[in-house]
Amino acid sequence: VTTKIKKPDWLRVKLPIGEEYKHVRGLVDTHKLHTICESGNCPNMGECWGAGTATFMILGNICTRSCGFCAVATGRPLAVDYDEPQRVAEAIYLMKVKHAVITSVDRDELKDGGAEIWHNTIKAVKALNPGTTLETLIPDFKGKKEDIQTVMAAAPEVISHNIETVERLTRQVRIQAKYWRSMEVIRTLKEGGIRTKSGIMLGLGETKEEVVQTMQDLKDNGCDVVTIGQYLQPTQKHLPVQRFVHPDEFAYYKDAGYEMGIDYVESGPLVRSSYHSERHVFPGLGR
Ligand code: SF4
Ligand code: SF4
Repeated sequence: VTTKIKKPDWLRVKLPIGEEYKHVRGLVDTHKLHTICESGNCPNMGECWGAGTATFMILGNICTRSCGFCAVATGRPLAVDYDEPQRVAEAIYLMKVKHAVITSVDRDELKDGGAEIWHNTIKAVKALNPGTTLETLIPDFKGKKEDIQTVMAAAPEVISHNIETVERLTRQVRIQAKYWRSMEVIRTLKEGGIRTKSGIMLGLGETKEEVVQTMQDLKDNGCDVVTIGQYLQPTQKHLPVQRFVHPDEFAYYKDAGYEMGIDYVESGPLVRSSYHSERHVFPGLGR
């Protein structure tokens, strides 16, 4: 059955307008950058861009993977752009943000999965913006530890890798990914002394027990910060929304996460992996 469920009131958000929004818009365009805010049709653009923050997507805007929830285009990516790290650094400088989030498409066709560009980007941002903290939301690099370590060596404050969904639904939601391989990424990061973070989307058909189990698996693998938000279908071609999770259920997961000992749980209908990211940098700020 494909009857479309009506969006509940708690998902209605402000439209993106205002001076700061326009400023960010201008910088993104003149620096020929891509943002996941736009690619993912994020409902928080008014709030985040209005506050002068955005999540940059590096390594182009064409992904080698085709996750069922993701609006980023799949295909053959363009050649690696070695000037991109500097352009990202400059945009962050001009945005004067104290905290920035960077993510990337997956580049499975590259020998290092894009790890070198990742490393160079973090270094360039740090060089130009010594006071800016960074969250880097990385792909799984097919589980290749040396590539993950190349990113870690550039020392961003937080490295996140999203598990996205529960184990049972992983094949359907993230077709080329593996649940336990992603858990292993988190473990590798933690073992390297990095502050770690992961995100789960709800509304794809998971049960409450499965969500709690996923949180527990993240915790057991050393995940410090967990974000939980509502999945929204970007286009008709993407996986349908099975249900809109009530804010009370999101509150329940927050409590459950703190009971497990997760350091910071961000859980609510509009939460995206990069939402309130600046609050996730330093330990002990949760609750
Ligand atoms: Fe961009 Fe993240 Fe904010 Fe959405 S929550 S607008 S993706 S920074
Ligand atoms: Fe989207 Fe990332 Fe999946 Fe690529 S790997 S399709 S960018 S979620």
